[in-house]
Amino acid sequence: MLRCSLCINDERVTKILIINGRPICKECKAFLEHPPDKDKIKRELEEIITNIDKAIVAYSGGKDSTVALYLARKEYNLDVEAVMVNHGFMAPAAIENAKKVADYLNVKLTIIEKDYSDIFREALLKAKSPCRKCSKRTMEILRKYALRHGYKYIITGHEIPFGHHPYMLMSGGVIQVRLLSLMTEEERMRILEKLPFKLPELPGYTSNCLILGPALERFWEKHGYSFEHRRIAALVRYGLLDKEKALKKVERPRVPREQKEYVYKKLGLEHLL
Ligand SMILES: [Zn+2]
Repeated sequence: MLRCSLCINDERVTKILIINGRPICKECKAFLEHPPDKDKIKRELEEIITNIDKAIVAYSGGKDSTVALYLARKEYNLDVEAVMVNHGFMAPAAIENAKKVADYLNVKLTIIEKDYSDIFREALLKAKSPCRKCSKRTMEILRKYALRHGYKYIITGHEIPFGHHPYMLMSGGVIQVRLLSLMTEEERMRILEKLPFKLPELPGYTSNCLILGPALERFWEKHGYSFEHRRIAALVRYGLLDKEKALKKVERPRVPREQKEYVYKKLGLEHLL
């Protein structure tokens, strides 16, 4: 099986081309042809931050949005409100982390309770990834919240910028800012150490979601690889995560029995257990 010589993509997940005798995936080819100007992205990020008076931090209680909240508050001294959308399957440890960190940073935490069972049930039934639909719904809820409460900016904990920019304009004039653009996993971990944050042990590349593990497991059974593979390969391509760690993150997950039972029962899918 051909594997990209730059990232961790292989023939199972994307097209691999041979360029100058080396296997290169099509995402890495596009990246090499139009490489992002990292200094420019960082400059743009600094620039937009100076324009922000107050903002929402899209806070999931996971490790990346925790780092974003810390930076917004401590490094940039912004007036922020942490807003968490609980989709019904947040790990209790993540909610605990969120409350502790918000309290420690003296930030108002708002938790919006929603029910995403429809998305999760469909994902498990069809062995598909729920992530795109889930994050799209969450961003829409946050966008409406921002407009209702007079916020123009939503800060998120994504590390990969929007193409060549660290921000994106949403409808209604709300601007989404990826505050961790181009920040390495190591840098993020160093910040977490300063905070009252306990990294929960959950299957999949997550520190807050109970659905990811079971969904990855279903997908593995059907397709034989992780639906997070390309997303994690992108972190390697951008130099934010080393290959060895990335390959570990795309291994078949081991989902604890209790987590699986909890998720399937709550979704009325016991028959799939
Ligand atoms: Zn590649």
